[in-house]
Amino acid sequence: MERCPVCRARLKGEPLCVRCGCDWSLPLQIEQRAQYLERNAVMRVAKGELAQAEQVLDEALRLKASPLLSALLAFVREQQSAGRELQQAEQGAGKTLRSRASARLRELLKFVHANQG
Ligand SMILES: [Zn+2]
Repeated sequence: MERCPVCRARLKGEPLCVRCGCDWSLPLQIEQRAQYLERNAVMRVAKGELAQAEQVLDEALRLKASPLLSALLAFVREQQSAGRELQQAEQGAGKTLRSRASARLRELLKFVHANQG
């Protein structure tokens, strides 16, 4: 916020407008918090910390409407669901391999029993 939203005087980083006396300290704090969260979210996405990134993006979007943050949140959610699908596919493949291995073991044991004595 560079100018007072009421009288358009320059705020010069001060929360109190020198012309009309409006106190913008709360909106400025919210703006700063949103900027901090935005940077934090981008950093977490870059590090692959998707669950934390999702939380940070949720909080940032409650403070500030932003097409960039909305797009980033959609991306993070897509990545998370793709990750879950991959994990499920891997678990399924693991089960198939284990059941094939135990079927082979049963055949081997049958063979061993049949050839004993
Ligand atoms: Zn003002």
